[in-house]
Amino acid sequence: MTDAMRIRSVEVEPLDVPLIEPFTIAIGKLERVANLLVTVVLENGVVGYGESAPFPVLNGEDQATASAAIRSLAPSLIGEDAEEWRGLAAGLERRLWAQSAARAGLEIALADAAAKCTRRPLWRLFGVAGDAIETDISIPLVEPERTRVLAAAISARGVRTIKLKVAGEVEPDIARIVAAHQAAPRCRLTLDANQGYDADGAIELCDWLRIAGLPVALFEQPVPRHDDAALARVAAGAGIPVAADEAVFRAHDLDRLAALRACQVVNVKLMKSGPAEAQRIAARARHHGIGLMIGQMIETRLATAAAAHFAAGLGGFTFVDLDTPLLLAEDPIAGGYVMDRGGYFLGDAPGHGCWPKGRTQGLLA
Ligand SMILES: [Mg+2]
Repeated sequence: MTDAMRIRSVEVEPLDVPLIEPFTIAIGKLERVANLLVTVVLENGVVGYGESAPFPVLNGEDQATASAAIRSLAPSLIGEDAEEWRGLAAGLERRLWAQSAARAGLEIALADAAAKCTRRPLWRLFGVAGDAIETDISIPLVEPERTRVLAAAISARGVRTIKLKVAGEVEPDIARIVAAHQAAPRCRLTLDANQGYDADGAIELCDWLRIAGLPVALFEQPVPRHDDAALARVAAGAGIPVAADEAVFRAHDLDRLAALRACQVVNVKLMKSGPAEAQRIAARARHHGIGLMIGQMIETRLATAAAAHFAAGLGGFTFVDLDTPLLLAEDPIAGGYVMDRGGYFLGDAPGHGCWPKGRTQGLLA
């Protein structure tokens, strides 16, 4: 190890951002973004930035607990070599396995610093598949009339996939889906129930979609995350590819679901797993013949860029759901990607390319 890449300090602070409007899904409502900014400084002056986006209804983490978790993990990183960020990530998981968003923020900051030390973009740490990716835009749980307006606007801006949040009740959900399809007939449509259905309801919804001739490309987490049997029933009976999201935090979760043939796609999120475990999940998915989706919590430009780098470098992500910076009323982060319609263009800037406005970029001198 060169002393230059040793970690000198790890800091965490609130990253509070107002939303343009509250964001509602089947398992909860978010009024404002209460994330965390993680800053890692190396002996050579390189600064790595990470973001934690805890989502309380997902796994119980919130801003206060994630901040405390990061503070408790930080001393174990001081003096360590940032280039060994994958090994450090494994150590963090051994200490605090349940605090995945806290660990993800640390890991992103470490990986950003490691990439900057070799002047490489972050995507190169994960592969050479590419430096661009194309996202959908999501429509939250709103009335059909509002769904129609939002779908038309998404289509008009040149985005080619719409992800529609559904509530878990067949009739109102059909009305939402019809509204979106009529307003944006050329857009690929995916659904996300966020665990809102039981297996019978989910299959009934899919039967209706088939009868109505409504094209839906994916049905995300139709049933509660601990009910593997229900997910397997929907995956077998829906006639639409089913994605596991809340059910998969780790590679072994996916192995278990694969053995039951309980999903055709897995939604990988850095906040559920951290980049190192997320890469293992992607590898297991390839092994099982399960398709890849990249998703996120409500994240700023920073964690969104990290996720885009991860998925672009690894490649093979058929579904991309990285649109939450569009929900924010302010953008506290500079740099990063260029966005054009649904495309993220990442380029060759070192790391994920993002830094908090008014701070140093933290590049290698
Ligand atoms: Mg989801």
